[in-house]
Amino acid sequence: MIREQDRKALLAWYDANGRDLPWRRTREPYPVWVSEVMLQQTQIATALPYYERWMRRFPTVEALAAADEQDVLALWQGLGYYRRCRYLLNGARYIVALGLPTSAQGWLTVPGVGRYTAGAIASICFGECAAVVDGNVERVFARTTACGETGPTLYRHAWEWAERNLDPHRPGDWNQALMELGATVCTPSKPRCEGCPLEPSCAARQSWRVEQFPVARTTPSVRLRTHVCWVPFESGAFGVCQVPAGEWWEGMWEFPREDATDDRAAAEAQLRERVGAGWTESLGEFRHTVTRHRVVLEASLVRCDARAQALRWVTRSELEALAMPAPQRKTLRRALALLGLD
Ligand code: SF4
Repeated sequence: MIREQDRKALLAWYDANGRDLPWRRTREPYPVWVSEVMLQQTQIATALPYYERWMRRFPTVEALAAADEQDVLALWQGLGYYRRCRYLLNGARYIVALGLPTSAQGWLTVPGVGRYTAGAIASICFGECAAVVDGNVERVFARTTACGETGPTLYRHAWEWAERNLDPHRPGDWNQALMELGATVCTPSKPRCEGCPLEPSCAARQSWRVEQFPVARTTPSVRLRTHVCWVPFESGAFGVCQVPAGEWWEGMWEFPREDATDDRAAAEAQLRERVGAGWTESLGEFRHTVTRHRVVLEASLVRCDARAQALRWVTRSELEALAMPAPQRKTLRRALALLGLD
């Protein structure tokens, strides 16, 4: 357990040092929910402009619920992990239909809301004694208790610890204080232990073993993939298709793409069938990472003889308004430069 005086010290430290962020100036559930979803797997500096744009465009849960999915995806473009964006939209529709939940248990019924987000909203907005564990809290837990576990066991122990140590008087501030400490002081490398409010309670610090926690986990191997992507162009229009359900970037728009990792000839034959005949020029390679996959996207411009029926043909300005994954957007820029349209 964290000692009472260290608990007070952490809250006082947060009061004095917590960063002034737009979603911390309110206790309204909608902006807190949006920020919590955006900040999953994303740094604050990256999420901030997206958050501000989002709140200008969809200032209320009703405005979001009424939005078109393509507009929502377009606004999210570049932030990655698009499933989060779809969950926000579906969640907003659920809330408008069934009412705004006011407890962690209620928030858990909203599509896409898990234990962490439900706990964050309930504690920050409604003062409920609901714990949270994100990567920052897990690291603070591992160090303060010198926990030697990794993976799911570490995560489970971190939840138990977070629930035991939750401050009953200021649960929202307590949760944010722990996350803030992990983000700014108890950082993954070079934690600033001098002056850390939890230093007297910290088992790793007291035993001079801070660098040993959290215990390193063997990372799953990275999978290398090659995708071939063709940019069909005919009389000023580009051919695009919508990414089917269940695939990366579901619902967004892209140029025809096939996985050529195991069989390049088959992938190119499929592309030829989808795009049709035409003059092909290389646009080069684009590298990106999706979950554990490192993908090399080999792109080509195809000046088509005719417009394939299976594709949607759009002008450059129409294309700008469509939600496209970042590697496809880069491919488009290269194609526009080759066509002299940039
Ligand atoms: Fe982290 Fe160091 Fe504070 Fe322990 S004393 S919680 S290791 S910053």
